[in-house]
Amino acid sequence: MPVDGGDPAQRGAAGGDTLAWVVGSSDEAGAQAPGGGTWAAPVDGGSSGFSFRRSRAPDGTLSYPFFSDSVTRVLGFSPSDMTETEDVHALLLHPADRDRYLTEIDRSAATLTPCIEDYRAITRGGAVRWLKGISLPHRTLGGDVVWDGAVRDMSELHRTKLFLDVLMRTTGDFIFILNDSDSILTGNSFGLKMLGRTLDEVLGEPLSLLFPEIDDEMLSAGADSTTRVIETWGQRKDGTSCAVELSITAVQVEKRQYIAIAGRDLTIHKKNEAALLVSERRLQLVTDNVPGVVFQRVLRPDGSLAFVYVSRGAREFLGIEPAELLEDPNRYMRLMTSRERREFLEALGRSAQNMTPFEEEISFRAPGGVTHWLHGQSVPILQENGDIIWDGVLMDVTDRKVAEQRLSFLAFHDPLTHLPNYGAFQERLAEACARGLHTGEHMAIISIGIDRFSVINATLGLRVGDQVLIATAQTLLVSLERRSIMARGQGDRFLLLLAGYKTPQEVIQATERIHTIAQKGVSSGGMDFQISMSSGAVLFPGDGIDSSSATPAETLILHAEAAFQRAKGRGSGILQFYNKEMGERALKFLNLQTRLRKAIKNQELLPYFQPQVHLKTGKIIGMEALARWKCPGVGFIPPNEFIPAAEEPGLIDSIFEIILTGCARQIRDWKDRGIPTVPIAVNVSGRQFRYALHLLSLLKETVAKFNIEPQDIQIELTESSAMQDPETAISVVKQLREMGIRCAIDDFGTGYSSLSVLKKFPIDKLKIDRSFVMDITTDHNDAAIVQAIMAMARALEMEVIAEGVEQAEHLAFLRNLGCDVIQGYYFSRPVPAEEMERMLLEGRGLAAVDMV
Ligand code: C2E
Ligand code: CA
Ligand code: CA
Repeated sequence: MPVDGGDPAQRGAAGGDTLAWVVGSSDEAGAQAPGGGTWAAPVDGGSSGFSFRRSRAPDGTLSYPFFSDSVTRVLGFSPSDMTETEDVHALLLHPADRDRYLTEIDRSAATLTPCIEDYRAITRGGAVRWLKGISLPHRTLGGDVVWDGAVRDMSELHRTKLFLDVLMRTTGDFIFILNDSDSILTGNSFGLKMLGRTLDEVLGEPLSLLFPEIDDEMLSAGADSTTRVIETWGQRKDGTSCAVELSITAVQVEKRQYIAIAGRDLTIHKKNEAALLVSERRLQLVTDNVPGVVFQRVLRPDGSLAFVYVSRGAREFLGIEPAELLEDPNRYMRLMTSRERREFLEALGRSAQNMTPFEEEISFRAPGGVTHWLHGQSVPILQENGDIIWDGVLMDVTDRKVAEQRLSFLAFHDPLTHLPNYGAFQERLAEACARGLHTGEHMAIISIGIDRFSVINATLGLRVGDQVLIATAQTLLVSLERRSIMARGQGDRFLLLLAGYKTPQEVIQATERIHTIAQKGVSSGGMDFQISMSSGAVLFPGDGIDSSSATPAETLILHAEAAFQRAKGRGSGILQFYNKEMGERALKFLNLQTRLRKAIKNQELLPYFQPQVHLKTGKIIGMEALARWKCPGVGFIPPNEFIPAAEEPGLIDSIFEIILTGCARQIRDWKDRGIPTVPIAVNVSGRQFRYALHLLSLLKETVAKFNIEPQDIQIELTESSAMQDPETAISVVKQLREMGIRCAIDDFGTGYSSLSVLKKFPIDKLKIDRSFVMDITTDHNDAAIVQAIMAMARALEMEVIAEGVEQAEHLAFLRNLGCDVIQGYYFSRPVPAEEMERMLLEGRGLAAVDMV
């Protein structure tokens, strides 16, 4: 658009608004400018630019005689600033562009062809402007070359292009541009790389080269410049393919239509999607197979509660279809009791308020009538809309619950009779005592036991024994009145608390009534058992609360026990009320235990030895070790006094150890000194037999330690202890025998042995109790019993020892009955080791008169 004359700067204001602009068409065109010559440099009005004149002297000096005013707008310098500056280039030119630009000017001057003006200028304010334009040279008559030219500030465009370029190069999406005949004009490096192509390979090709499924119809669909998104696949050069998503948009640029294709590789996305699907399925599988219910519960800001998700387990574990629960969350609430529901809502509220994990536990009756327990744990998450969501799981904990309940039952109950146990009784009694002090009511605490229960166990077996206990418990339980309770004590013992009576007389009567009922016997398994029971009772208030150290409940039980022991001592079927004298005895007993403990520490215990002589040879064939307590300042305390006190707190083990060690050491010593020894029998208590492992290992150790023979030691076990738990006793005796240690049954005749049980004992000796021997010459009954025992022992091939032989008459009588061995004062009292040693050395035996 050539324009005539005038100030190019002024004219520059009028121009097109497109990027296209032209400079005067002929070399001569601007020759007269700026003095009014023709030139055309329409600097468009919308964007900024300026025109200029440059002159080059033959010596190469460059100068700029003219700049249009608009230069100020572009560069901040006024035209005069510019024209007066000696080296405009130094002022303006970006150093990086300097050489290139000056070369271009030289070239243009030499060839008189248009100079491409393309450089970055530095403005007055220090900013960089990208200028582009053209200038046309002509030579003056003086030999100068003069250019008239114009540049425009292309900075914005350049920047846009730059950004676009960066975007095209760096985007993770691919971009292709098609022209209106659908052939590829360009594509970004990402897209090319993804499809394994170079730009050259795709330029001018149809898009179907890259995306075979794309047809014209799809491309034209975007003609209205809305974007259409399609999923398809891309064909790589190597023949492989990839899933892609394409956005197709038609764009109009300068009245020409282009199609922009942007897209992304869906391979990873697809992979993720597939993985997600797999993990979703897995999750589903897990939730469906959890032994419980997986759920998502939501609390809305309006306070409503709903299930968002419920796994299939709801059907099995709650008896509700998941869909029903989603529809009506109250189905869940209705499983709870009203108290459970209240607690549930309160706890849920707390969880929502503090955003703390929520635990719930519900029990409900399944259709079959079985109670199920579910324990739930869930974690709250606050949503943006104010909803609180709990993700969680309800697990079936029925098994655990049942076990827990059983355990807690067992903690307080006796598993055989289902009665409260000793611990529970103690607790209830303490409560009752505390209550009684206020109410002034009268109570009795009774310890009651079945007489000779061990005989039932021994003769009929433990199973029958258990049945008798259960039946007895039932009989007593149904006859209790008012606020009374009953518990199982040790073995055949029961503890009763009769409570709620107004006067001592009333409670005494109630006690006597129960005791009478207890004597009636019981039936079990079609059999009647004519049992009797002994009772010890203590009244409250009264004798129980004076003891200083123990709490009343413990004291009361102790007193009832003391009364019970006294009742037992008096015979069978006796009811004994506690009295003060018993308390004193109990106290003495305790005192004795304390002293005994000290005595053991101070080594005040030692064995004495009592010889046993054979009636045929008259020789000492054995001896019994008997414990002696040499108490300083008191003298000897007899074992009958301290052994019962030792039975209780396990002191008996220590005593046994002292006596056994004393015997073993003695045998070793005698053997070392060449003194002829005989086996020594050591007494054990029933309690030790019950914890036989300790007994057996102690015997083994001692025999080994003193290097003696197992045959050097014998064991005496009383008949009553052996019959208390015959099964165990038999097994221990067997083990002792295997070790080479022989056993005798002590105090035989007092313990109700049955022949059938006795037969099972691998026993070598029976010791006939002193009480029979004592009166053997005067009492026909006793003589008959001894005779019978002797016959039985012979049948079972056991040796018989008679204890307590004090007189020559006893000896003669026993010899006539065929007794093997005697032990008693007649031959010798129990004596200290030195005296025993003398007897052994002298080879002392029965006198000649006793041998006839
Ligand atoms: P036991 O085992 O029946 O011991 C026999 C008791 O009768 C001994 O009394 C003995 O001194 C006494 N005795 C012996 N011959 C005669 C006699 O001719 N006439 C009379 N009247 N008595 C005679 P001791 O030594 O007082 O022992 C009493 C009980 O103490 C023993 O009875 C035994 O049951 C227990 N005992 C003694 N030492 C121990 C021991 O080390 N361990 C255990 N567990 N108990 C022991
Ligand atoms: Ca004995
Ligand atoms: Ca005895």
